[in-house]
Amino acid sequence: MPATRGEALHHLDSFVPLAASHYARERNYDRGPKHRGNVSQLSAAIQRRLITEQEVLQAISKAHSLEACEKFAQEVLWRSYWKSWLELRPSVWRDYQNSLSTLLSFESPVYSRALHAQTSIECFDYWRKELFETGYLHNHARMWFASIWIFTFKLPWQLGAKLFEEELCDFDPAANTLSWRWVAGLHTPGKHYLATAQNISQYTESRFSPENQLIENAPCLTFKAPSLEPLKEEYLPFQGSADKVGLLLHPEDFSPETIDWVNFSPQSTAVLDPGLISFWGQKSSRVHAYNRKAVADLIGRHQSIGSTVELLSDGNLTEKLKGWINRHALKEIYLIKPWQGYLKDQWAVAEKNLTSQGVSFYYLRRDYDKEFSQKAHSGFFSFKSELGPVWSRIKTERNKERLWKVKELK
Ligand SMILES: Cc1cc2nc3c(=O)[nH]c(=O)nc-3n(C[C@H](O)[C@H](O)[C@H](O)COP(=O)(O)OP(=O)(O)OC[C@H]3O[C@@H](n4cnc5c(N)ncnc54)[C@H](O)[C@@H]3O)c2cc1C
Repeated sequence: MPATRGEALHHLDSFVPLAASHYARERNYDRGPKHRGNVSQLSAAIQRRLITEQEVLQAISKAHSLEACEKFAQEVLWRSYWKSWLELRPSVWRDYQNSLSTLLSFESPVYSRALHAQTSIECFDYWRKELFETGYLHNHARMWFASIWIFTFKLPWQLGAKLFEEELCDFDPAANTLSWRWVAGLHTPGKHYLATAQNISQYTESRFSPENQLIENAPCLTFKAPSLEPLKEEYLPFQGSADKVGLLLHPEDFSPETIDWVNFSPQSTAVLDPGLISFWGQKSSRVHAYNRKAVADLIGRHQSIGSTVELLSDGNLTEKLKGWINRHALKEIYLIKPWQGYLKDQWAVAEKNLTSQGVSFYYLRRDYDKEFSQKAHSGFFSFKSELGPVWSRIKTERNKERLWKVKELK
């Protein structure tokens, strides 16, 4: 999986010719790790924004009409849908976190066998090992894996989501948590995803055929509609800022060169190492290695344009920020607004501590995110109708992305 911006752009370039009919026809097949030409494998790079969704859509728009590559474009949009959906329903994230804390001591022989790839279901054990060894699973395998976990093994979905969290290189709090909930039937009332032996056999081209091994008629988990909390924010055009300001780059946005910063020239820029944000589990060494490469790439790109940048890593988030702020006597910090997830949770604590010391924080949103941020009130079907106008805009626009300052409303 590409772990630098250069690699990701190169990978995208090679994938563009395949993003239309080839992708639509082939994308559901999981032929194993050595045969991934039918999907882009860009998710880890897009998740950290080594390349942006806008760049991906722009690249395919040069080669195809929207009709021709609609399937791929819609997949790219799913990430924004999940992020926006969770942002509007923060209680879903909080409930997931609370469930994990009560499940931390969960033990059962089935759970242990599932974690150690020692179940009697060959395909499940294979995907379990593949996840550990590669940090990636094909989308269909993720669906089958989650379905078997929930409906055949009857394990708590939250523990499955946590396992993905620890080992997926593309782990994204919204996409992961909400996809697990979707499989369980907690996203759309009466709709869950049941893996069947026939479907697995068809889309793995008979690599696996778990006949009579899966529970193929389990009911959905009990659906409870989450409360919708509309965002109380508006967006003002970003116009740079005054003296003594710092720019904080964090792991949700690693391509500052794709943004139009207007007149903004921070006195100091810092990069937040993903390792400073604690998750539930110890991340796998594969994820650490991916992060190290991505961070080194960001710093290298920044230095190549003549800017100095400090890496904030190892230790306590608030203390690291405090050190950076004090070293440069910064009064204002600007950052892309984090989405619902671990970074946002831990950032909120750090912000509270530092605000009391007289530092002000300002949040920014990219144009692309602003367009979608308030739109996930219902299902993906209505959300995806936003794609047309966005496509028309970015097809003709070749400039850097505009930035908006987020104004919190009372
Ligand atoms: C249980 C489960 C857990 C998942 N957890 C994650 C996760 O933590 N992080 C993650 O990025 N994706 C997650 N996905 C979504 C999807 O499986 C991956 O994004 C996709 O498989 C990545 O491979 P790709 O880049 O080759 O995708 P492609 O098929 O090439 O799709 C192109 C791009 O579209 C986006 N995309 C495609 N499908 C989805 C989707 N369902 N949700 C959000 N974005 C999507 C990705 O950015 C991807 O790179 C999960 C899906 C399931 C069923």
